[in-house]
Amino acid sequence: MFINSIRWRMQLWLAFLLVVILSGFGFTAFQLHRVNRFREIDADLERRVVALAADVSGRPRQNPPPSPPPKRSSDDDDFFRDLFDDSPKRSNNEDGSTRNMPPPKPPERRKKSDGPIERGGFREIRLSGQSLSLFDEQDSGAFYFHIWSRDGTLLKNSTNAPAGMFIPIRTEGSASIHVRNRDDLREAFHFTEMGECVLTGRSIADDIRAMNRFAWRLCGVGAVVLALGLGGGWLLTSRTIQPIEEISKAANRISEGNLSERISIADTDNELERLASVLNSTFARLDAAFTRQKQFTADASHELRTPLAVLISEAQTTLARDRTAAEYRETLEDCLDTAQQMRWLMESLLELARSDAGGEQIPRELFNPTTATENCVEKLRPLAAEKGIQIHTEFNPAYAYGNAGRYTQVITNLLSNAIHYNKPKGEIRVRVSMLENQAVISITDTGIGIAPEDMPHIFERFYRADKSRSRMNGRFGLGLAICKAIVETDQGTIHAQSVLGQGSEFTVTLPTAKA
Ligand code: ADP
Repeated sequence: MFINSIRWRMQLWLAFLLVVILSGFGFTAFQLHRVNRFREIDADLERRVVALAADVSGRPRQNPPPSPPPKRSSDDDDFFRDLFDDSPKRSNNEDGSTRNMPPPKPPERRKKSDGPIERGGFREIRLSGQSLSLFDEQDSGAFYFHIWSRDGTLLKNSTNAPAGMFIPIRTEGSASIHVRNRDDLREAFHFTEMGECVLTGRSIADDIRAMNRFAWRLCGVGAVVLALGLGGGWLLTSRTIQPIEEISKAANRISEGNLSERISIADTDNELERLASVLNSTFARLDAAFTRQKQFTADASHELRTPLAVLISEAQTTLARDRTAAEYRETLEDCLDTAQQMRWLMESLLELARSDAGGEQIPRELFNPTTATENCVEKLRPLAAEKGIQIHTEFNPAYAYGNAGRYTQVITNLLSNAIHYNKPKGEIRVRVSMLENQAVISITDTGIGIAPEDMPHIFERFYRADKSRSRMNGRFGLGLAICKAIVETDQGTIHAQSVLGQGSEFTVTLPTAKA
């Protein structure tokens, strides 16, 4: 399913993150805009309430603050008011918004024409020209005012005031200016010391429409940013995913059998390039292993075909006519020799197969390599003597962890090589000792030596330095390969040093405890 693809998953995560970030940003921007707008409206209302209240109280007016209006929150949103308003906290009214009146100034001489005039118990309110100039009564959308007496009688109002005005309920904090919302009207009111209520207001329908327009613009910008972000994210993901697709295509081609195929790597050293490089080296090792395996199978079948061909030809030649008993015996002896070679080859191949399988089933224990080596030397001493070769030994107490039988096979192979590739009347030195918690066995001969170009290959299967030499006597080029396989499955090592024409030294190290 498409949702399972990395590309789509990354795209969905990106979309989710973008939506969250853009929504948060849009919401914050809208709220800031709204708070500022209401702050401005409330400052205008407050200025007018202060002017009217001064006239109603008969107090000399406090000059309304010049624009720009004071930066004070008038919004009924507590969070934003607290966030942006440094002014001291005020008491709340019914809609949660309040204004402080400036502290009363000491009384000055009143101008005769301003303020309330008592006429037979009826307070006539006269507003100053300066206050009236703050209201445009011809404009129904402009600021309006209402002034009520203490008992709720309407004392004065502007002609553009909307219908349905009612006096606000008086609450604590009479010195404050309170703000209220009625439908799309915003009103600020204040109770004077004499109990009159002064209220100014104006329609905020246009402001709300402007705020809605702003919200839609934010949504539009958000949608464009989201589309651009998703488009960019898609391109970026495609670029990131591309190497993975190339890797999987190359891996497919390789699995179809083309082991020489490799993943092309850009020289940027990022994680995917490193993965591709690791896969490439794994494919290279697999390729080499398959090539070796193919070579091994081809060599093994070739080596087996040769003695089989000898067997068949010997038998056919002998059966072609009647033979004497002595001739039949000779032929049978030749066939037996060839069959024994085949058995040796088969056993060698089996040994290698066992080691290739990890040799986990082979029992291992602590054994004495000195005794095992001594037994091998004594077994091969007659063969060495036939060629006039002397074997010198230096046996020190030692112990090793492994399989004594397989270790004997290693020493037998090395000793038999040291005899076979030695010069007539040559010498062989065998030494067993302990070095740094390892058993070390070295076999040195004074033989023909190994050419430097052959040295890297002598442990390879079926490798013979001198191809012209016959394969007779079981010389198939498997002896050292078997030694290496056995020693390495026992967690040991085998090394060779040689000087052409002077001799060779093979050194085996074996662990003294289970790895
Ligand atoms: P082989 O059965 O041919 O001896 P090995 O695997 O035992 O195969 O040895 C591989 C090749 O290494 C030999 O063909 C030979 O050329 C070389 N070699 C091994 N041991 C010696 C040695 N002691 N002296 C010189 N050459 C050696």
